[in-house]
Amino acid sequence: MEETLKDNLNRVEERLARILARCGRRREEVLLLAVTKVFPYQAIEAAHALGLREFAENYVQEFEGKHPYVKDLPGVRFHLIGHLQSNKSRRASELFDVIETVDSSKLARRLNETERRLEVMLEVKLSPEGSKSGAAPEDLPQLIETVRGCGNVRLTGLMTMPPWSENPEESRPYFRRLKELAVRHGLPGLSMGMSHDFEVAVEEGSTCIRIGTALFGRRRKPEAA
Ligand SMILES: *Cc1c(COP(=O)(O)O)cnc(C)c1O
Repeated sequence: MEETLKDNLNRVEERLARILARCGRRREEVLLLAVTKVFPYQAIEAAHALGLREFAENYVQEFEGKHPYVKDLPGVRFHLIGHLQSNKSRRASELFDVIETVDSSKLARRLNETERRLEVMLEVKLSPEGSKSGAAPEDLPQLIETVRGCGNVRLTGLMTMPPWSENPEESRPYFRRLKELAVRHGLPGLSMGMSHDFEVAVEEGSTCIRIGTALFGRRRKPEAA
């Protein structure tokens, strides 16, 4: 597995280097976030050994099982990129460093009440067919005001997941729209782009690409496990 992962990582880094060069951006501007949902904790260990430090999971419950094995890896940080119910916010705050899927004032307030000072991003829903969760763009101003009033969370940016399409160009309008919203609200972080469309996302200003399949291969179990 390590060999394949190493090759996969090299391929992703090559793709990334190519697109960065084309748009005159630097490698440090884009975080490569390794999405390990469905894979065992050994996948995190192996990727960490190859130098990756930031990992993303979709489900609190699934990550609970892996966390004890990986929490002490040097320099490691964990992002939650799946929908979070507010009744799981306390547990999520213990497991994750970044919650990328804040989409309501209620959830923001719950996270603000937990012990740890979390970094948060707001998930924006830009189409009816994309991710099921996320705040509507018209609700963003109010949500941002609430989150900025929460002293215990640090708002760093926006995240989105366009409707799935074979053709990465189909994602471009969504990425562009997310960037516009981030600029309008003075938010530097843009979590957008996955295995099949991250080049387009980087062209549109992504600061965080979320890569699962291109690193770890196809996921066996359905995502909605
Ligand atoms: C699973 C997932 C990813 C990774 O997708 P790949 O196509 O496997 O790279 C990225 N973001 C979110 C929100 C996901 O659920």
